[in-house]
Amino acid sequence: FDKLKRGLAKTRDLLLTDVDDIILGKKEIDQELFDELEEALIAADVGPAFTSELIEKMTDSVKRKELDSPERLKEVLRSTMKTLLKKNEAPLVIPEKQIFTILVVGVNGTGKTTTIGKLANQFKEEGRTVAMVAADTFRAAAIEQLEIWSQRVGVPLIKQKQDSDPSAVVFDAITAAKSGKAEVLIIDTAGRLHTQVNLMEEMKKMKRIMGRELPGAPHEVLLVLDATTGQNAVNQAKMFTDAVGVTGIVLTKLDGTSKGGVILRIAQEYNIPIRYIGIGEGLDDLREFNSEEFVEALFE
Ligand code: GDP
Repeated sequence: FDKLKRGLAKTRDLLLTDVDDIILGKKEIDQELFDELEEALIAADVGPAFTSELIEKMTDSVKRKELDSPERLKEVLRSTMKTLLKKNEAPLVIPEKQIFTILVVGVNGTGKTTTIGKLANQFKEEGRTVAMVAADTFRAAAIEQLEIWSQRVGVPLIKQKQDSDPSAVVFDAITAAKSGKAEVLIIDTAGRLHTQVNLMEEMKKMKRIMGRELPGAPHEVLLVLDATTGQNAVNQAKMFTDAVGVTGIVLTKLDGTSKGGVILRIAQEYNIPIRYIGIGEGLDDLREFNSEEFVEALFE
């Protein structure tokens, strides 16, 4: 919890220090106060939809005379955040004794490889047999990076040489899993943006082949988003949900960014569970997303 709290320090500074300043300077709740709050929230990247919902709630509470002092507005902010984030909280459940495939997608640099390493480590510690799958065959460096993680964590890596067909790598992986070599497959995919159309076609093909070889696969399409990129993360969510369908989100690099408010925006605009959050570069720095803990860490 302390680490999460420290990680969220800059987001807290941007979001709550402003809100505090605005509230402390006021004796009564008026339109000017709401206008200032609105401006501060928008600047903190929480998004227009969340902001207007919040202001509406505050206005209602004032009308119903439930709110009489500016200080109590912060409580409304806290509870509105909790309600919204709770809706997007649904930990990834991996059933026992069957093959479970996780297709990890996202733009290069968002933290895909690191997240795969962290996930492999967690699942291994839970007693699962895990394999990483190098289906980003476009960049040699991607395969090498994954190789390093697979050695560090101590799980096998299923790979082919650079430029081979990603679908063929995934086919190999499913065959290996069927023969009992792994239960959980964590599949890295390409995230090159400059050839977006090809990339999306490649993903669709991969999904098709997975489903053909193993009914129900991919069981999870996990989108990795970098919190430090704010608005870009929101755009990427749109691109990947439209093109490949996303069943879960990982929001990385929440430590050390002031743009952590973007989690509210993503939660509001996409009805997709936030499975994990990244709060550092180390193996243990991937947490299952817990809305209550997150909001408390932000407000402490
Ligand atoms: P990929 O290109 O998407 O596979 O990205 P990488 O996994 O190589 O990560 C890019 C950089 O982000 C690396 O330097 C990682 O150490 C770093 N990174 C990944 N996740 C986190 C996180 O949660 N917090 C921080 N601070 N850095 C992270």
